[in-house]
Amino acid sequence: MALKAADIQKRLPDGGKKNCKECGLANCFAFAMKLASGAVSLDRCPHLDPATRAELEEAMLPPIRRITIGQGDRQVVIGEEEVLHRHQKTFLRAPGMGLLLSDTEPAERRAAKLECLSQWQFERLARVSRFDLAALACASGNRDEYLRLVREGLDRTGAGIILLAEDPGILLAAYELSKARQPVVCVTATNADRVLPGLARDTVVCVRAPGVEALAALSARVESAGFADLLLATDAGSLPDLVRDQTLIRRAALVKKHRPLGYPTVVFPSACGNTSPVVLAAAIPKYAGVIILDEVDAARFQAFLTLRQDIYTDPRVPPTVESKIYEFNRPARDASILVTTNFALTYYAVAGEVENSRQAAYLMVLDTGGLCVLASWSAGKLGSETIAEMVRKHDVASRVDHLQLVIPGLVARLKGEIEDELPGWQVVVGPREAAEIPGFLPELIRKRHAN
Ligand code: SF4
Repeated sequence: MALKAADIQKRLPDGGKKNCKECGLANCFAFAMKLASGAVSLDRCPHLDPATRAELEEAMLPPIRRITIGQGDRQVVIGEEEVLHRHQKTFLRAPGMGLLLSDTEPAERRAAKLECLSQWQFERLARVSRFDLAALACASGNRDEYLRLVREGLDRTGAGIILLAEDPGILLAAYELSKARQPVVCVTATNADRVLPGLARDTVVCVRAPGVEALAALSARVESAGFADLLLATDAGSLPDLVRDQTLIRRAALVKKHRPLGYPTVVFPSACGNTSPVVLAAAIPKYAGVIILDEVDAARFQAFLTLRQDIYTDPRVPPTVESKIYEFNRPARDASILVTTNFALTYYAVAGEVENSRQAAYLMVLDTGGLCVLASWSAGKLGSETIAEMVRKHDVASRVDHLQLVIPGLVARLKGEIEDELPGWQVVVGPREAAEIPGFLPELIRKRHAN
């Protein structure tokens, strides 16, 4: 959002003083405030003349256009970034991750990549990550070979498709074959004029050029041909070139508002002649909108997806897990019942140790808004009432043959209050540290059996 509320108000009817309330808001300034935050659309004001409306629409376009690639649950949405540095405001949209497949690759290697695209996934902090995109490259120059690769990509993965071929005829044939899946089509200065007329105007076009200057010129050509959804890629030949190009593009979009560079970027580390982890680790914080890897390496993927999640997590919003009752080690009627909060780091620390204990257990995870145990207790989100309410709501008593509840040692003071709220229940004060759970649980069960 480029305009502030006061700037918008000046452009509203009667210089923002009409205040007729037909938009449903108290006055023009209230409308301008909502518009600036994206909470309402221009349609709500019936008194805007077409010229002002067009001017506002243009001025309010995000400096980096939002682009959607792929379909369904594999859809990747990128763009609309607003800052150069993460300390200014959070980075919004994590880069999509893709795998590069070539039609000259050995069959085994290609099969491993297709398998990875369709099956591999990695869960961390309640988020599942996987490869979203298959970048299909024509290295053979042979139409039949390339179309075979595209068919495999379509049939064996649900990933979004990126088509890479220099020959316009081959590229357009691949586009025709895959257009129901809305592929991204990469064009260069040498094939753009022959490829663009054959594409639907709502196609996402990846504009690829040797450097930023050539990229801006080609991007403007593609825009003027009627395409609105673009991705940008430079063939940076080294890591310093990659960082320089990415920085120049982001600065041109945000600081200079240079529209031809106001799109997300695609990074091909293999084009750098360097696929080392350092290149990938640099591309994630250095503004990549999509990163295309060219090797299957699960350990490396996990490291990058972890880095991506860390860079693109809003530090102002604590990571959470779903508030519900989790089951561990096949709980039966004698399973222990533990309580914790939905702050993801707390949950994973506790869940990991309950798992390690090898003791059957239910873990009751309260919605504390992502606060840890002590913080949620002091904020009034973890108390005897909230715990008792969850016990009743989920009818926890019906799951087991005992009425014993384990609370975190850090909130031992809640024991009596919970027993007052839940008549008949015995509240046991558990460990202060999750690491003590594997020693605590067997002893708890032994004592329960002895009584
Ligand atoms: S409808 Fe338009 S002119 Fe009327 S108050 Fe709302 S913004 Fe102002």
